[in-house]
Amino acid sequence: MEQIKNRSLLSAMCENTNSAIAVDNPATGDILGYVPNHSKQEIESAVSKAAEAQKVWAKQTAKQRSEILLRWFNLLMENQEDLARIMTLEQGKPLAESRGEVAYGASFIQWFAEEGKRTYGETIPTPMADRRIMTIRQPVGVAAAITPWNFPIAMITRKAAPALAAGCSFVAKPAAQTPLSAYAAVELAYQAGLPRDLLTIVTTTDAAMAGELFCGSEQIQKISFTGSTNVGRILMKQSAESVKRVSMELGGNAPFIVFDDADIDAAVKGAIASKFRNAGQTCVCANRFYVQNSVYDEFVDKFSKAVSELKIGHGLEEGVSIGPLIDDNAKNKVQRLIASATEQGAKVAVGGKDHGGRFFEPTVLTDVTHDMAIVQEEIFGPIAPVIRFNDDESLIQMANDTIYGLASYFYSKNINRIFAIAEALDYGMVGVNEGVISTEVAPFGGVKQSGIGREGAKQGIDEYLNTKYICLGGM
Ligand code: ADP
Repeated sequence: MEQIKNRSLLSAMCENTNSAIAVDNPATGDILGYVPNHSKQEIESAVSKAAEAQKVWAKQTAKQRSEILLRWFNLLMENQEDLARIMTLEQGKPLAESRGEVAYGASFIQWFAEEGKRTYGETIPTPMADRRIMTIRQPVGVAAAITPWNFPIAMITRKAAPALAAGCSFVAKPAAQTPLSAYAAVELAYQAGLPRDLLTIVTTTDAAMAGELFCGSEQIQKISFTGSTNVGRILMKQSAESVKRVSMELGGNAPFIVFDDADIDAAVKGAIASKFRNAGQTCVCANRFYVQNSVYDEFVDKFSKAVSELKIGHGLEEGVSIGPLIDDNAKNKVQRLIASATEQGAKVAVGGKDHGGRFFEPTVLTDVTHDMAIVQEEIFGPIAPVIRFNDDESLIQMANDTIYGLASYFYSKNINRIFAIAEALDYGMVGVNEGVISTEVAPFGGVKQSGIGREGAKQGIDEYLNTKYICLGGM
């Protein structure tokens, strides 16, 4: 932490008391520092203050809100290097990826600072001569969020920016593994002029308590969650009592498909980017590769060679592209899935070994079949299982054979096939000849049990607005 130049970014850190949360560096296991472990009463108080602050914020014009958000965007970009270092230290991803995430996270603030000014209502042709009909759009009120550790800044700004731009206040509970980035990002919002009570980070090791509190609170009108499908289900059930609006960005099981007419070199490049970003720990990471028979060997050879060149190490080291996994559980899961696949006949083409600490070698498995656990479950690690397929029909059947429907990817140069496959894939997002597709201008989200709602794009702000119908009578 000594290398962080702007010390104000660390102002939320606290002393090592009994109740504080220790944050460690997954690359070394060293403790980086401590943040408060907030009690239920403290979180309730943050929610109440957010409810008060929201009333004032909603009365500001969208343009006034936009000005503060743009200053926040600028401060994030001015502090990109420090924020990236904090992120790599607590999360483990390579520094270049952390820099990218800071820019990606900031881009939502810039985007929604603009979109906030365009939350238009409508005038509707009346069916009755003495009436006029219109709609206006208003902020839902207090929004709460629970976010994961894999994108410690972007998963907060992707929700906070549309909420604030719409006129909501926002309380977020980041994952206990990565609170430092969240606090640092939000500190810059205060420096940009955002009232403190309007945007609050709360941290606790009792995630279930925070979830129950948020979902049960009548002061909170909206909950936005990014994380596992299991926890998403719990939060949806808990939100039923107060009929809360929910947005859910849940698990994925992304297929990455290589057709016989694909540009294989481009597919290998896309596969590396899609699979190994953040050591495979993203919900849109390619989880399973389907490669058509006639190009299977060529793809596996080139892909394995590219994977063998990936450098494993501490994210701050030059040239590293594979950092550690977030914790021991993540590594155990990867090892269990590989062991079970190889017992059932899968072969290790490259990697497959423990690299010490929380590191695991980037791995390609061949002779994998669709029914193996490594294909059916979300791996969340640097393992690429490769499956053969014959024809488009059986491929689509396998690709859609999952409860998930977040991201999918395929490589083909045939325009007819491109449309047919893009339409047939039961996913919220499809990358065609591209392995990394997230951007603030496009709607991110899933179908089936991968979630509800969209983030980013013009749709992202709808999640934080209610439509009010106004009927003018006696005209
Ligand atoms: P992951 O496996 O990626 O950690 P989780 O869904 O467990 O995914 O975690 C995502 C976020 O959900 C984290 O902030 C975590 O603390 C929180 N969380 C975990 N369990 C619960 C729960 N029962 N209720 C509310 N939030 C939870």
